[in-house]
Amino acid sequence: MTDAAKRSRTNPTTVYFSGAPCECAPGETVLDALLRQKPDLAYSCKKGTCLSCILKADGPVPAEAQEGLSPTLAKQGFFLPCLCPPLDGMLIEPAEGKGLFADATIESADQLAAHITRIRLRPNEAFEYEAGQFINMRRDDGLTRSYSLASVPGQDDLLELHIKRLENGIMSNWAADGASVGDAVEIQGPNGSCFYLEGNAGGPLMMIGNGAGLAPLQAIARDALDRGHRGDIHLYHGSRHADGLYMRDELAELASQHANFYYHPCLSGSAVPKGCRRGRAEDVAFGDHQDLKDWHLYLCGYPPMVEAARKTAFLKGASLANILSDAFELRELRIEPRD
Ligand SMILES: Cc1cc2nc3c(=O)[nH]c(=O)nc-3n(C[C@H](O)[C@H](O)[C@H](O)COP(=O)(O)OP(=O)(O)OC[C@H]3O[C@@H](n4cnc5c(N)ncnc54)[C@H](O)[C@@H]3O)c2cc1C
Repeated sequence: MTDAAKRSRTNPTTVYFSGAPCECAPGETVLDALLRQKPDLAYSCKKGTCLSCILKADGPVPAEAQEGLSPTLAKQGFFLPCLCPPLDGMLIEPAEGKGLFADATIESADQLAAHITRIRLRPNEAFEYEAGQFINMRRDDGLTRSYSLASVPGQDDLLELHIKRLENGIMSNWAADGASVGDAVEIQGPNGSCFYLEGNAGGPLMMIGNGAGLAPLQAIARDALDRGHRGDIHLYHGSRHADGLYMRDELAELASQHANFYYHPCLSGSAVPKGCRRGRAEDVAFGDHQDLKDWHLYLCGYPPMVEAARKTAFLKGASLANILSDAFELRELRIEPRD
């Protein structure tokens, strides 16, 4: 634990948000302290994964509050209040108007499957990214959520998101029912390091995802093939029900075009139609391949699956450095559950 974290466990400290003092209770993060005064501040996972809560500091920032940020953002004083033990006298400003978010327009919104909405965005300015990275999308009321990029630079003209509808989920239901062509949103990113790495063109790749976890994985697979990856690529997509296995035709087509690309649709429910594998994606994948030494793995989607698969892959010989992942962490609703 850093000195700053130790101090904040014992002494109440005062930070200043847009000039207004905010007292932080011992052990509290800057985000939780600020939320008591400003409940409408943007945040989601509170784990440092999604970056939705990013703010800017004028002055020193505890190192742990900038872990996972790009050096450019860290240098400019951006930090994650959800990971930040308060420093007494810390001066904090909103991230708005600081060049972090860029404007984009919704070019299309349609249903890829019963619960998956595809949103295509046209950024107003050039937006460089790697297939599989994620962005934060902010609605005009400030609601911000993270979404992985399903598009591939050089192959797809627009930024593409696959958004799974969740019961009572605010953004995902808006994407499905409320978002219209021409709507303006803001985007921040690209974020994350879950993308294809060159230098291993002959090695095997294993991709495991469930639900909308397919979005980054199919993009990484297409990107890898486009860049001439020669090793085998196994993509395992899991769902409980057949209608969750979206893009089946497209992925089967991709497999027919590339002898080294294998698509494995997996169903964990009781009905398993022809062409699908029975079981959870991670169980099927690890059943197929016992020794993962020299494999590179990509894991995306439901956080408990990602965590369990990471452990299993490591135990089967994969190096931790070769396991890239994005856990789709949801907003923390335990502290302030909605009615
Ligand atoms: C790095 C990263 C990448 C991601 N990529 C994707 C992606 O590509 N596609 C995708 O679909 N998602 C992705 N996510 C998840 C996404 O950011 C959102 O969290 C998700 O879309 C839900 O947002 P929402 O506003 O619809 O739900 P929220 O309103 O934030 O609700 C979150 C959860 O709480 C539940 N809930 C709602 N009301 C209540 C209540 N009263 N009590 C208890 N629980 C309740 C909802 O059902 C939902 O499960 C990603 C997340 C991260 C961190």
